[in-house]
Amino acid sequence: MKPRAFSAVQPSGNLHIGNYLGALKNWVRLQYDYESIFGIVDMHAITVYQDPSELQKKTEEIAALFIAAGIDPQHCAIFAQSSVPAHVELAWVLTCVTPFGWLGRMTQFKAKAEQQESVGTGLFVYPVLMAADILLYQAAVVPVGEDQAQHLELTRDIAQRFNALYGETFVVPQTTLPAVGARIMGLDDPTVKMSKSASGSFHAIALLDPPERIHKVIGRATTDTNPAVDFENLSPGVANLLGIFQALSGWNEEQMRGQFGGMNYAGLKKRVSEIVIANLEPIQARYRALVAEQGYLRKVLQQGAQRVAPIANTTLELVKRKTGLYS
Ligand code: ATP
Ligand code: MG
Repeated sequence: MKPRAFSAVQPSGNLHIGNYLGALKNWVRLQYDYESIFGIVDMHAITVYQDPSELQKKTEEIAALFIAAGIDPQHCAIFAQSSVPAHVELAWVLTCVTPFGWLGRMTQFKAKAEQQESVGTGLFVYPVLMAADILLYQAAVVPVGEDQAQHLELTRDIAQRFNALYGETFVVPQTTLPAVGARIMGLDDPTVKMSKSASGSFHAIALLDPPERIHKVIGRATTDTNPAVDFENLSPGVANLLGIFQALSGWNEEQMRGQFGGMNYAGLKKRVSEIVIANLEPIQARYRALVAEQGYLRKVLQQGAQRVAPIANTTLELVKRKTGLYS
């Protein structure tokens, strides 16, 4: 049997090129090497308020984008987290073995909490629910963007602590980051990572953005006052644009330097816009066909949940036995 891969996206906004390059593209590449499970983690999304009338729609939209980006729903399970209650049950057990101080060190909590008027406890303990998502499937690898590396380390620590306390139970997962594109930065502010939940209309390129908007947002991207691309002196904004191009083209350093060294920023932005549009157009066309098919996405998500629930429940039963919970 193949080892398992697990990863997920929150239905907390519009999927962007950071999600694509940091996560989805790698999932597509790895999908057949593993028994692959991809979640749409709505329980995570509600750690920050979500419009209830939008959340279900977003969940199906993201399922469609997974498939449109190249995930094969015949081979991989695609499911909504809230359809499999074992995630939340395991999360509670893991919360009990996670020292408070470990969560206090999570940098993403600090960044997200700053943006909220009122911070729900769920936002603080969310990395434990993420650990449960992964450990429930005994995943060997977790392909994510670089911003999730700290949460993955925590997942490993939690798995090891549980195994030490109660005996070998969980596979300790490996983090898989893409070589290029692991951290795409905001186009309006290249000192922060591109995020679905960030405000600002010039922050991100969404996977469903039309070409005109892509030209406009990349055209407005923050650069610097230098006249042209100087590889010995790259500002974060220019490095980010080059990183997007490199991740989409698969070019090596030499090709990048040869093509872009000395090019003015208008030229660079034009090339980046063109390659983004060329990569997104086929995804958008497949997306439109998928959403037009009545009931298809619901079926994919239901079948996905049916496939993963027995795996999740087997792990949960094992955990209950190990911890002495009555069952
Ligand atoms: P939110 O702002 O709601 O947290 P997000 O954009 O961070 O949204 P997530 O659903 O949290 O997206 O993450 C989904 C996947 O995308 C994860 O694997 C994450 O590491 C990856 N990812 C998110 N942002 C980026 C980015 N800017 N660059 C590369 N990968 C990213
Ligand atoms: Mg995130």
